[in-house]
Amino acid sequence: MAKIVIVGGVAGGATTAARLRRMDEQAEIILFERGEYISYANCGLPYYIGDVITERKQLFVQTPEAFAARFKIDVRIRAEVTDIDLRGKQVTVVNLKTGKSYAESYDKLVLSPGAEPVRPPIPGIDLEGIFTVRNVPDTDRIKEYIEQHKVQRALIVGAGFIGLEMAENLYTRGIFVTIVEMAEQVMTPLDFEMAAEVHQHLKSKNVEFYLNESVTSFESRLGRLVTTLSSGKELRIDLVILGVGVRPESTLARQAGLEIGDRGGIKVDEYLQTSDPDVYALGDAIEFPHPVLAKPATIYLAGPANKQGRIVADNIALGNKRRYNGSIATAIAKVFDLTVASTGLSEKTLRTEGIPFISSITHSASHAGYYPDAQPTSLKIVFGPEDGRLFGAQIVGYGGVDKRIDVIATILGCSGTIYDLQEIEHAYAPPFSSAKDPVNIAGFVAENIIHGLVRIVHWHELSEEELERSFILDVRRPEEVKRGKIEGSVNIPLNSLRSRMKKIPRDKRIIVYCAAGLRAYLACRILSQSGFPEVYNLSGGHKTYAFVTERQANEDIFQGDMIAKDGNIYESEIEQS
Ligand code: FAD
Repeated sequence: MAKIVIVGGVAGGATTAARLRRMDEQAEIILFERGEYISYANCGLPYYIGDVITERKQLFVQTPEAFAARFKIDVRIRAEVTDIDLRGKQVTVVNLKTGKSYAESYDKLVLSPGAEPVRPPIPGIDLEGIFTVRNVPDTDRIKEYIEQHKVQRALIVGAGFIGLEMAENLYTRGIFVTIVEMAEQVMTPLDFEMAAEVHQHLKSKNVEFYLNESVTSFESRLGRLVTTLSSGKELRIDLVILGVGVRPESTLARQAGLEIGDRGGIKVDEYLQTSDPDVYALGDAIEFPHPVLAKPATIYLAGPANKQGRIVADNIALGNKRRYNGSIATAIAKVFDLTVASTGLSEKTLRTEGIPFISSITHSASHAGYYPDAQPTSLKIVFGPEDGRLFGAQIVGYGGVDKRIDVIATILGCSGTIYDLQEIEHAYAPPFSSAKDPVNIAGFVAENIIHGLVRIVHWHELSEEELERSFILDVRRPEEVKRGKIEGSVNIPLNSLRSRMKKIPRDKRIIVYCAAGLRAYLACRILSQSGFPEVYNLSGGHKTYAFVTERQANEDIFQGDMIAKDGNIYESEIEQS
């Protein structure tokens, strides 16, 4: 009878245990979990803090007792594995209730210890009221703190997915939220122009946020946390949530002598086997080659951890039969009213890696425009200039973002191309999509670019000199122009372009734009076929241009008078305290 020891009882560990039992009724399976809970919904924690999930018990997919009973697993909570003896094939376990330690032997060991939140060495970081969000006890502490201290102002340090989910959930509770982000944008998997749309949305919600700023110290003054930023600015805050990233919890594996990769994760092969064949590892703690980049990557997502659990269990039960193919980091988050999703590589990463690519931005409606409540969807894809191989996609929108990112991720995961995007057959009726889905449109536009039917230019290529040198043609209707335009552009609405073509110089580069890119594309086709030699369509149109040229940060909105989330302005009592 095989004896399998599993370290970590949440996403990866619990999944492995349950599948193992289904594969082998006789095996002895021991699950060690340092905390008090197993198999809980870490992804739901921000929503429990925000009272969106109202019942604490809903966070628990399984209790240790129910799990043990159903799967005949020896679940040991408050039990921390502190040492692994690879030669002797045993682990040292500390019973955190009694403080006593003991050894437990294994035939196969599975490590799913997760990732730990980074706590940067900022002066004052250990003061009361500064939290990270990893597990249920963290969440309980945050909720209790909010209630006991009547928290009015919260600071989120780091604007990643978890940071923004926390921002939304604290806001939902009526707390004034400030975000400080060191980068020039929120959500680093996104490229700047896609993040810029998120910035504008956060502004519309009266979330205060600072970009290109970091926290240099925390101090406790008069019962509040005074946070100093790199610019010297001080913020008076009641609660701080640190969301500056996580790192693989690989210390135990490292100390045992297991191979650790360049990114600090436990190194595993395609069978999820570590450098010791009797030890498997999975989840946030591992690193594995990225399927597109072919370089080691750490992926902190629940989906891959759960799927790896099944692979590990099968490989233990059946011998190494199932291979793991890696994750392309398909992720999604709700950011207030927006849905933000990404898969594969961003333009930023491709640029850093020196991989040739083309990027294209399209704006479509979430469903047929004539059916009520169609909402805008911004979709960016990056792909190979020759073969159209898809490298990555990002979507910011409202309805239907989830299904579209999943479809693109499926194609990307199969090493598909922009031609595959065109051919996706989607379910269509007016409330759900259009006869040509935004995913199809992205594929059509990409093909037009690759085949030279249209040349494109991007917002970041529009330097002042470029705008000077070029003839900027706005083909929108005059009433649209009134709402904002590119300085120096000349408006000739598309429908009158053919009759007013004489006004356009033939010896200049012509950059055409409309709201989203479609009318400009039609104009480009007319002009190119009328002998204009250098005609370019502005990818993403004025919409993307406006997102990036608006002010990005939203600083100082809570100084003096405050704008509440109901949109009203109140005199700030907070600043006086
Ligand atoms: P975990 O699920 O973290 O489990 C590791 C467990 O191992 C922990 O309970 C830890 O206590 C235990 N452990 C560690 N060391 C030891 C030891 N030495 N002895 C005993 N026990 C030990 N992902 C998404 O895809 N979508 C989301 O929306 C999403 N939202 C998230 C929101 C939050 C607030 C957090 C924290 C994470 C979120 N994630 C999300 C990430 C997702 O939860 C993780 O990717 C996933 O849980 C990883 O599974 P894992 O098994 O590797 O680690």
